[in-house]
Amino acid sequence: MLIDAGTGVGDLTLEEMLGIDHVFLTHSHLDHIAALPLMVDAVASRRKSPVTLHALPETLSALKTHVFNNVIWPDFTLLPTVQNPFIQFSPLSVGEVREIGNLMIEALPASHSVPAVGYAASSAGGVNWVFTGDTGHNPALWSRINQMRVGMLVIETAFSNRESELAVLSKHLAPQTLAQELRHIDQSNLYPIYITHTKPAETNLIMNEIALFEHSTMAGAACEHDIRWLSAGQEFEL
Ligand SMILES: [Zn+2]
Ligand SMILES: [Zn+2]
Repeated sequence: MLIDAGTGVGDLTLEEMLGIDHVFLTHSHLDHIAALPLMVDAVASRRKSPVTLHALPETLSALKTHVFNNVIWPDFTLLPTVQNPFIQFSPLSVGEVREIGNLMIEALPASHSVPAVGYAASSAGGVNWVFTGDTGHNPALWSRINQMRVGMLVIETAFSNRESELAVLSKHLAPQTLAQELRHIDQSNLYPIYITHTKPAETNLIMNEIALFEHSTMAGAACEHDIRWLSAGQEFEL
């Protein structure tokens, strides 16, 4: 199973790609789907069943209209045969839970410039791995995950504070708005927080700005979290 299919897919071997039966997409932006058409194409001839794409109806519709449209890429929802295509769409809605193997995947609310979700994944009785996807200010997310047992939160911080206006416009977070978001976390429920989606040229600046608020009184005790940067190749056990 994959959650999102950006350029990180290029780190997988062909055998690993072949093993992916389900892709959960947070939204339609290119950095979250870029590798999907190529990955499906790379393994399609060796697969016996379609890869299932789980996403909001708006996200699937965007893929069909703008990617799998027989102009940018073939319509793999109809090829090689309508009966057994390379991909199939499985629309979901916010709050819906999908069971994949021994994992439960719940679609979480997100607030972005296009329809978007985050995801929480857990096995029976286990803690949740929570991924916000791309999001700006998102009170609905905190109401939901404060009801969950969370083992790890992966949250975006796309911009540094000097570009915080752009962050608000594009519905992303910057360190100062991240600090405000983290104040919503129930204090009896602290867990490690991993930062992702940092602009490559700004990563050091963003993490330095986060380290400043993490150790300051600006956000008060509510911001005493364990915050780290999510990097390629890390493995976690929850
Ligand atoms: Zn986006
Ligand atoms: Zn993005």
